[in-house]
Amino acid sequence: MDLKGKTAIITGSNSGIGLGVARELARAGADVVLNSFTDSSEDHDLARELGAEFGVSARYIKADMSKGEDCRALVEEAGGCDILVNNAGIQHVAGIEEFPVEKWNAILAINLSSAFHTTAAALPGMRKKGWGRVVNIASAHGLTASPFKSAYVAAKHGVVGFTKVTALETAGQGITANAICPGYVLTPLVEAQIPDQMKKHGMDRETVIREVMLERQPSRQFATVEQIGGTTVFLCSPAADQITGTTISVDGGWTAL
Ligand code: NAD
Repeated sequence: MDLKGKTAIITGSNSGIGLGVARELARAGADVVLNSFTDSSEDHDLARELGAEFGVSARYIKADMSKGEDCRALVEEAGGCDILVNNAGIQHVAGIEEFPVEKWNAILAINLSSAFHTTAAALPGMRKKGWGRVVNIASAHGLTASPFKSAYVAAKHGVVGFTKVTALETAGQGITANAICPGYVLTPLVEAQIPDQMKKHGMDRETVIREVMLERQPSRQFATVEQIGGTTVFLCSPAADQITGTTISVDGGWTAL
């Protein structure tokens, strides 16, 4: 796959899936823009090292995906993009009655509204070029639900719906919009849930991973960030030119149950 000459913005990409996707896009030859809200020297080093490793242009731009104006400014500062990967996301686990309002608002803003803002900012440039790829990192929770994840499930279902509308508004213009729906991928976001789950179930790490976390993932194997990155690269390939407005599950069979 040759993405030479294409520029990809990957939101929330200084760790986890976003970084994995950025690496696979860079491996395929794309210039990449990394993002997070931290703006540390490590963030800039990460971009420099990634660029050197794959021989592409790589830069880091700070933007807080909980703020609409930051989302739009990210696309503007990058000079537009050919490939937009909406990946930034956070999680909070609590029953509906106890769910902190500020967590609900933050999850909806970062996991859902950010995709609206970045897409709105990126589409004019894609339309002008007659080529564009919008890849939204949704979740198995964009297609199915779990208790205690109301905001996350609502936001991810929203992302899937927004993806379909993006596809319809750009159909036939060389632009596609799709959502990747990963099951469990071992990243910092998932890693952070393990101690809580161990405490809740009184289990050791390995048992809680196999019996609780991967209980709904029939393969009983985590998906990898490389696999999510590879799926993104596929969606940017000519083979995927007519794939738009849909979801691709990378979930070890979770949504087949
Ligand atoms: P992670 O915590 O490793 O990474 C999240 C990224 O988002 C980080 O780079 C972080 O800096 C960034 N981020 C968080 N808040 C931000 C903000 N306000 N502004 C800018 N950046 C911000 O998590 P991850 O597991 O890699 O998750 C990435 C995406 O994949 C999320 O949308 C998540 O919902 C989705 N996802 C993850 C899994 C999984 O099992 N890990 C499964 C399905 C979907």
